[in-house]
Amino acid sequence: KVVMEKILWRRSLQLRDKQQAWQESPEGRKMLELRRSLPAYKEKDALLTAISRNQVVIISGETGCGKTTQIPQFILESEIEAVRGAVCSIICTQPRRISAMSVSERVASERGEKLGESVGYKVRLEGMKGRDTRLLFCTTGILLRRLLVDRNLKGVTHVIVDEIHERGMNEDFLLIVLKDLLPRRPELRLILMSATLDSELFSSYFGRAQIIHVPGFTYPVQTHFLEDVLEITGCRLTPYNQIDDYGQEKMWKMSKQAPRKRKSQIASVVEDALKAADFNGPGAILVFMTGWDDINSLKEKLYANPLLGDSSRVLLLACHGSMASSEQRLIFDEPEDGVRKIVLATNIAETSITINDVVFVLDCGKAKETSYDALNNTPCLLPSWISKVSAQQRRGRAGRVQPGECYHLYPRCVYDAFAEYQLPEILRTPLQSLCLQIKSLNLGSISEFLSRALQSPELLAVQNAIEYLKIIGALDENENLTVLGRYLTMLPVEPKLGKMLLVGAIFNCLDPVLTIVCGLSVRDPFLTPFDKKDLAEAAKSQFSRDYSDHLALVRAYEGWKVAERDFAGYDYCWKNFLSAQSMKAIDSLRKEFFSLLRDTDLVDANTTTHNAWSYDEHLIRAVICYGLYPGICSVVHNEKSFLLKTMEDGQVLLYSNSVNAREPKIPYPWLVFNEKIKVNSVFLRDSTAVSDSVLLLFGGSFSKGAIDGQLKMLGGYLEFFMKPAIAEMYQCLKGEL
Ligand code: ADP
Ligand code: MG
Repeated sequence: KVVMEKILWRRSLQLRDKQQAWQESPEGRKMLELRRSLPAYKEKDALLTAISRNQVVIISGETGCGKTTQIPQFILESEIEAVRGAVCSIICTQPRRISAMSVSERVASERGEKLGESVGYKVRLEGMKGRDTRLLFCTTGILLRRLLVDRNLKGVTHVIVDEIHERGMNEDFLLIVLKDLLPRRPELRLILMSATLDSELFSSYFGRAQIIHVPGFTYPVQTHFLEDVLEITGCRLTPYNQIDDYGQEKMWKMSKQAPRKRKSQIASVVEDALKAADFNGPGAILVFMTGWDDINSLKEKLYANPLLGDSSRVLLLACHGSMASSEQRLIFDEPEDGVRKIVLATNIAETSITINDVVFVLDCGKAKETSYDALNNTPCLLPSWISKVSAQQRRGRAGRVQPGECYHLYPRCVYDAFAEYQLPEILRTPLQSLCLQIKSLNLGSISEFLSRALQSPELLAVQNAIEYLKIIGALDENENLTVLGRYLTMLPVEPKLGKMLLVGAIFNCLDPVLTIVCGLSVRDPFLTPFDKKDLAEAAKSQFSRDYSDHLALVRAYEGWKVAERDFAGYDYCWKNFLSAQSMKAIDSLRKEFFSLLRDTDLVDANTTTHNAWSYDEHLIRAVICYGLYPGICSVVHNEKSFLLKTMEDGQVLLYSNSVNAREPKIPYPWLVFNEKIKVNSVFLRDSTAVSDSVLLLFGGSFSKGAIDGQLKMLGGYLEFFMKPAIAEMYQCLKGEL
């Protein structure tokens, strides 16, 4: 022990000397100068004192004041100065992987180091972390996974939970776990950081924890609402169309392609505004849009019809959760003189990422938000109105370097009707994965645990989730984890995808199943550009022979693999309307998941290649069904075509890019689907047709109890749909059991 302590002491001294050398070097001084200009720096001493005296400290401060990049760094520096460098371990969680990556890179460079030295990051399936990493930026999910194997966070000295104002589900969950942990680890420090002033809720949750506010500074921002924009632009936008699109959801209610049409309308509104508004003087323009799809459709419009009539004078960049890291860096760079930087962003640029030179902000007023209808047990994904706080955040982004301007592309009366804050995620998403995590962390009764959250979810939502986990066989009757459930917690994917992987391994057809699971975990590889929708859908249906989007994906990927071997991967993607980025992501995810599966012992540890490529279409269909059950709907044929029905929703529709949407008839009685989303009507995404026998044998799990449950469930379906063939088989099996 004494030897160990000596080694650590020596190591700590080395770290201190290294830090001092950097701080005294010319580059180090320049960097320090820059850091000193941030508001957080002025509070450094107060912050460090508060952290040393209190177990929990809550820090609020406006976006860009230096919370994320500076505060973890202050702690690291002061620990190193106090010759505790080798024994401190600071974890700072971020809600999104891209912020964990970009912030860690920034902090490492502020310390004159490369990533992976004293500062590192870890996100799902990726990371940069060395033996000497003392400050780790990770996603909240990574810390939760660590808690699985290390309940007391042994050796961790500080946990910093960033962006708590977003009220993500993982963060709310983590806070309950940490609250339980604090009494067991009295020396552990917990620091919560928020971009809004609303810290009272968190403070009282942690027994009146101390709040420290970092006063920020922003220049005045001139604010325009839609009516002002119309006036400024001489009514070049048609006001009623605008208000219809934004004010009334009815307009697109009737049409099947509604969601897409509406997304592109946001792009059109922004395009018009960009062309019409008068951006005086230099400065970047930051445009808030709802998601990757309307960012892309605006990008396409602007390439076809460039702003300022000249594309060389505009630097058009996108900023969203899944951009590549090379793209990320460009966002922070200042463009050449005379070039206007325009960043098309999702709400990620509201608080997580700060772009320094923004002077103009365009705010479409919406963000994609998941919500959850517990009564119908259906998740919904809709671009919905943001909250007042979000609108203020967006506006504030314009006043960072000089007085700025913000255009809200909706009328003031709409703004007045916004909710003050957004509903926390735990109240608006299905809770299956969360419940599984609670069980795997041994946290006792699910509903008791969740009743201790900052804001507890509806009882019905909790019951639905538990019911789902029982149906899929992850929990037994007494809400204990089954063997299947335990395996599922080892795989960092949704339970249904985990099930598919496990059973794919058991049936020795892992190869195509890996492709399917990875394809469902990345962005849809089948692209449907707005103006080439028909061509794209036709291209997709070339891959379809068997009424399955999942099998179409397998074929598309197989084709890409072959093309890639001849260095023709891009060509292949271009011709077939596939995303090369998604294909590459699938390729690398496959390797990751495969090694995870090997860790579960279900795949022989000596296997170097994936399972034999057993392309038995019926078997794969069965495996898909096993994973996706109880996501099933019944196919009801009439003379011309067919209708789809689920028990909870009645009639449902297919997204138009599903291969099954182009089929006049489906020669199977059931479809299993990956996801249903309510967008006025309920839409199914990615479906595979299955037969009666497959559904009966693979719908649910193989345990006796689960089969009983599943028969009961199927029984309900049978009565509902009156399918004679399966009813007979069902009666037979029930007799057998
Ligand atoms: P907060 O977390 O309080 O919102 P940050 O710590 O993220 O603030 O940012 C503080 C400052 O550091 C901001 O002015 C921001 O522009 C700058 N900054 C952050 N990341 C980078 C980067 N990758 N490159 C250049 N500047 C950055
Ligand atoms: Mg931050």
